[in-house]
Amino acid sequence: MPQAQIIDGKAIAESVRGEITERAAKLLSETGKRPGLAVILVGEDPASQVYVRNKDRAAEACGFHSVKHTMPADSSEDAVLGMVDQLNNDPDIHGILVQLPLPGHIDESKVLRLIKPEKDVDGFHPINVGLLTAGERDSALVPCTPAGSLVLLKRTLGDTLSGKNAVVVGRSNIVGKPMASLLLQESCTVTIAHSRTKALPDVVRAADIVVAAVGRPEMVKGDWIKPGATVVDVGINRIPAPEKGEGKSRLVGDVAFEEAAEHAGAITPVPGGVGPMTIAMLMVNTLTAARRLMGLPEDE
Ligand code: NDP
Repeated sequence: MPQAQIIDGKAIAESVRGEITERAAKLLSETGKRPGLAVILVGEDPASQVYVRNKDRAAEACGFHSVKHTMPADSSEDAVLGMVDQLNNDPDIHGILVQLPLPGHIDESKVLRLIKPEKDVDGFHPINVGLLTAGERDSALVPCTPAGSLVLLKRTLGDTLSGKNAVVVGRSNIVGKPMASLLLQESCTVTIAHSRTKALPDVVRAADIVVAAVGRPEMVKGDWIKPGATVVDVGINRIPAPEKGEGKSRLVGDVAFEEAAEHAGAITPVPGGVGPMTIAMLMVNTLTAARRLMGLPEDE
C-alpha cells in the first residue's frame, strides 16, 4: 500500500483553471476583451488532433477567444510561416501555439522562432528560453509542463524548496532543462541527469525532489527514492495491459509508482498528475500574455 501523499494534479489543475476563468471574466468586464489563443495544427496526426482539441476546449471553457487553424500535411513551410506571421499581427490573438511535431519537410525551429516572443505561450522561443535561464522568469513565458510541475511542488512543499537537493532526470528543451532552471530559481541545488549519467540510482537517492522526464516506462525504481522525497513523474508511456483484455493498454509514468510510493513523502500519479497541469498552465500563459500585450499588470 502506498504511504506517500498522492499529489492530485487533476484537482490542482481544476482550481488553476477556475482561477483563470474568473480572471478572464474580470478582464472582459473591465476591457471588453478576451484573451485570444490560436493553435496551428499541420497534418492529421491523431494524437496531435486530440491535444489540439483539448487545448481548444480548455480555452473556451476559460472564456477565451480560441481559434484553431488546421493546415494540410503537405502545406509548404512558407504557408506555415505565413500563418504565424498573420497571427503575430492579429490584435485579437495573444497566444500562438504550433502543435509539434511538424511534418518532416518543415523546419520546426524556423517556425518557432518566427512566433513573437510575447505571444509564445509554449515558451520555446530562444528569447523566452534566455529570459528563464537568466533568472528573469517573471518577464518570460515558461514552458507549460515544467511550470505545471513547479506548481505541484509548491502546493505540496509550500515555501520550503530553498536549499533542497533536486534531481531532474532528462535534459530535453521542453521539460528537463526548463525544469532545472525553475528549480534553480527556487534556490534548489539542482542536478540534471541524462542517458550518460553514471550510477543514476545513487544520484537519484541523494534527491529531496525527483523530477522524472525520461520517456521510459517505470524506469525510476522504488529503492532509488530517498525516504520522504517528493517525486514528480512527468512521463506518459502507454504499455500493453493484457490483464485488461487482449490488445488493451494502460498509461504509466517514468517512475515505478507502487514501489516509489512506499518510499516517497509525496508523489504524482500517472495519469492525473502532471498531465492535467500542462493545459492549465497554457491557460495561465495565455492570460499572462494577453495582460502584458494590453499593458495591464499581470497578477490581477
Ligand atoms: P525526450 O525524449 O526529449 O528526452 C528524454 C530525456 O531522458 C533525454 O534527456 C535523455 O537523455 C533522457 N534519458 C533517456 N533514457 C535515459 C536513461 N536510461 N537514463 C537516464 N536518462 C535517460 O523526452 P521529453 O522530455 O519530451 O519527455 C519526457 C517524458 O515526459 C515522456 O514520457 C513524455 O511523454 C512526457 N511528457 C509529458 C508531458 C505532460 O504533459 N505530462 C509533456 C511533455 C512530455 P539524453 O539527452 O542523454 O538522450
